[in-house]
Amino acid sequence: MTRIASHRGGTLEFGDSTPAGFKATARMALEEVEFDLHPTADGAIVVHHDPTLDRTTDRTGAIAGLPLAEVQAATIDYGQSGHPLTLAEFCGIFAGSPVAFRCEIKPGADGRAYDGFVPKVIVELATHERLEGTTFSSFLLDTVEALAPHPRLWLVSEPVLRQVGTRGVIALAQARGIAEIGVHIDEADAALMAEVQAAGLAFGCWAAHSATQISKALDLGVKVFTTDRPSLAIAIRDAR
Ligand code: FE
Repeated sequence: MTRIASHRGGTLEFGDSTPAGFKATARMALEEVEFDLHPTADGAIVVHHDPTLDRTTDRTGAIAGLPLAEVQAATIDYGQSGHPLTLAEFCGIFAGSPVAFRCEIKPGADGRAYDGFVPKVIVELATHERLEGTTFSSFLLDTVEALAPHPRLWLVSEPVLRQVGTRGVIALAQARGIAEIGVHIDEADAALMAEVQAAGLAFGCWAAHSATQISKALDLGVKVFTTDRPSLAIAIRDAR
């Protein structure tokens, strides 16, 4: 069965990385919750998509340049007056939920990986007994490699796929010991999936937000897809 991952807690249904979205996701009949992490200036780990507060909250500034108290003073625009969650709070929301973690390690606003961030995330997840069952992801190959030996996948962007080509992507993944890739749903087709799978890699998709995109992912039978509309995805899958 194709797995459904609630992307940032279901951005189009609940807002981007909101507590309300994650609380709803924890009770949904789906398999994974996708979320993104950034460090604060004082060493905390925050669940937020963007590296800055600018786009989705009433405050501004790079998360990595602010102390946790200031990050959590921000209100996420879309959502029920929620504030950005720490990874610990996030783990609390999912305590007792069978929904598995799909944890994306984000780069900073400059596009570069945060120094020493991955080991801190791994320790925090282990502390909350959620390391087991977590699959990590990143668009950055070096970050994906740094996540070994934990389950991890490489998010292949459209420019990378176009410029490197399918064979190049497969070769890069294999050279780095990466067993799974994900591509944008609009880049996916049966031939691409077959070629990736024939090379021994698992194949998933991201950004399947419309009914057409969700149906495409289910028709292809990809391993997993992320969606901003988890409730819609569940309804479409259940109707089959
Ligand atoms: Fe993400």
